[in-house]
Amino acid sequence: MIVIGNRAMYMTFKNMKKQVEGKPEKLARVMKFNAPKQRNSGRNIYPCRICGKTEGVINKYGLHYCRQCFREVAKDLGFKKFN
Ligand SMILES: [Zn+2]
Repeated sequence: MIVIGNRAMYMTFKNMKKQVEGKPEKLARVMKFNAPKQRNSGRNIYPCRICGKTEGVINKYGLHYCRQCFREVAKDLGFKKFN
């Protein structure tokens, strides 16, 4: 955990990878010990296909859009709003 001012931030895998980009030995170590686990179930296997969020994703009818992106593309997909 990193504390900036009075905010606490967690080091994500993405940031960790970015930090050691030019250092092949350290990158190999990060990939070995910090890479996210390959999952077979759970919400992380279907991220939003536009923004990559895993919260509020609509998987019904094979949509795989998060609720925010769905609002933007629903009309193009042929959904109609009745109320
Ligand atoms: Zn989205």
